[in-house]
Amino acid sequence: MPEKEVSTNPWRLGIVGGGIAGLATALDLLDEAERRRSNVHVTVFEKESEPGGNLRTLRHNDWQMEWGPNGFLDNEPATLRLIERVGLTNALQRSADAARRRFLLVDGSLREIPTSPGAFVKSDLLKTSAKFRMAGEFFVPPRKNLGQAAENVGTDETIAEFGRRRLGSEFTRIMLDPMVKGIFGGEAEQLSLAAAFPRMVELEQQYGGLFKAMIKLAREKKKSGRSKTDAGPSGTLHSFEGGMNQLIRGLADTLRSDERVTLIGGADVSRITARDGGWYVEADPGHGPFDAVIDAAPAHAAAGHLERVSSEVARHLSLIPFAPMAVIALGFDRTAVIHDLDGFGLLVPGSENRDLLGALWTSSIFPGRTPEGKVLLRCMAGGAGNPGVMDLDDEGLVTLILAEIRSLMGIKGAPEMARVIRHERAIAQYLPGHLARMKEIEAGLAASPGLFLTGSSYRGISVNSCVKEAESVADRVLDYLADAPRRAASPEAM
Ligand SMILES: Cc1cc2nc3c(=O)[nH]c(=O)nc-3n(C[C@H](O)[C@H](O)[C@H](O)COP(=O)(O)OP(=O)(O)OC[C@H]3O[C@@H](n4cnc5c(N)ncnc54)[C@H](O)[C@@H]3O)c2cc1C
Repeated sequence: MPEKEVSTNPWRLGIVGGGIAGLATALDLLDEAERRRSNVHVTVFEKESEPGGNLRTLRHNDWQMEWGPNGFLDNEPATLRLIERVGLTNALQRSADAARRRFLLVDGSLREIPTSPGAFVKSDLLKTSAKFRMAGEFFVPPRKNLGQAAENVGTDETIAEFGRRRLGSEFTRIMLDPMVKGIFGGEAEQLSLAAAFPRMVELEQQYGGLFKAMIKLAREKKKSGRSKTDAGPSGTLHSFEGGMNQLIRGLADTLRSDERVTLIGGADVSRITARDGGWYVEADPGHGPFDAVIDAAPAHAAAGHLERVSSEVARHLSLIPFAPMAVIALGFDRTAVIHDLDGFGLLVPGSENRDLLGALWTSSIFPGRTPEGKVLLRCMAGGAGNPGVMDLDDEGLVTLILAEIRSLMGIKGAPEMARVIRHERAIAQYLPGHLARMKEIEAGLAASPGLFLTGSSYRGISVNSCVKEAESVADRVLDYLADAPRRAASPEAM
């Protein structure tokens, strides 16, 4: 990439949406522009009065609760770079070692998920026949059209189809299904493996199977002396002493202290339009012209923004569904819960027919978020498989979930603190055909140079995916600007 001289006339860039995706993209644009000696001005439009999107931390007396993500795994270098960049490395909070223990609800009782092959053989989580079927994964040949399968909605494999094909139906029902509920609030039967877990497709393609991949990667690791394989989602859960919103505050402070940034809160963008070679962001007031605009709002919102630019792109965006989810945070005195809560929490397979999707033992994962002598549980309900539960009012949800967890954890009496957080559109669901849809969206965007999309609706729902993608979007925007004609007009409010 040829380096440009810093010019006095900055490229004007608009970002719609001040969640982690939008804010990380803003910072990466500044840093990458500096590296390329390019002059930019970035305006971030956020609908709410404060930025952050899902990354909000609530405080109620001495109880600290997360609105959205509980944390992130420390295995994504882009996230660690971002944290360092905003000066928060020392504020990182590692989850307690106890959180390595995870449980599943099987046939009405809690069973610990074994973490080593030896423990797995001994455990009663799966029947012996299911363990043999699982071990047989080694001999299952890779799917023929791997790699291309996801390009067609008819051949795109769901997570459950993949699980049954390679590891057997009991493994899929008891282990895979609750994991998908826990991560996506979604259904293994409904989500595309290639879109949701692309690494699984790569491993099958490259090594012929998951066990083969694990063995080969372990050998490679031994040879190279590395301490981790990249076969699966390794990494340790982290947050910040002040909760996930501390990352947002760090990011927003860093951005606000930079004269190349304008952060506008309370700006509900209605449309993005193009005219006379420039991009306009219609909010109240509207702004433009911009040389490039990055829409980092969720796909359902971006669909409305882009209706005038491309009805076809807008149509595709509007067809990306979102699962609803309710987070029910419950606080108890320690003596009111008989269970030792020594672990991360539990997930519930759909075959258990419960309304509870899972429960995290927050006070065991991140101690210090409750008043002295109390415990905090974070229960989830709803998801793509049970949206009707969202119709209950807050009291109804608390009563329902309490009834389900009372006997599981030996809970006596009523909670001292109860808070219901509703996400009507919590997490994007990557249905079969999602990657094919992304190709259509990208083809549509190619006809609108200077317009970019980013965020958890597209290529990974985690905080880590959003931060990783922010780096590549910043690169793409600056590559585009390197070849774009300079606009003569100066920035204005409409
Ligand atoms: C309950 C729950 C639990 C989760 N747990 C985890 C977890 O443990 N780990 C993990 O990695 N991820 C988790 N996630 C996913 C994680 O929250 C997302 O990856 C991340 O927050 C997505 O960030 P984003 O910036 O793409 O979207 P958002 O956070 O949704 O931000 C989008 C922003 O756009 C703004 N916006 C929308 N419309 C407009 C408009 N018209 N004009 C201007 N601004 C607009 C919104 O107000 C918002 O601030 C969880 C999500 C939920 C809901």
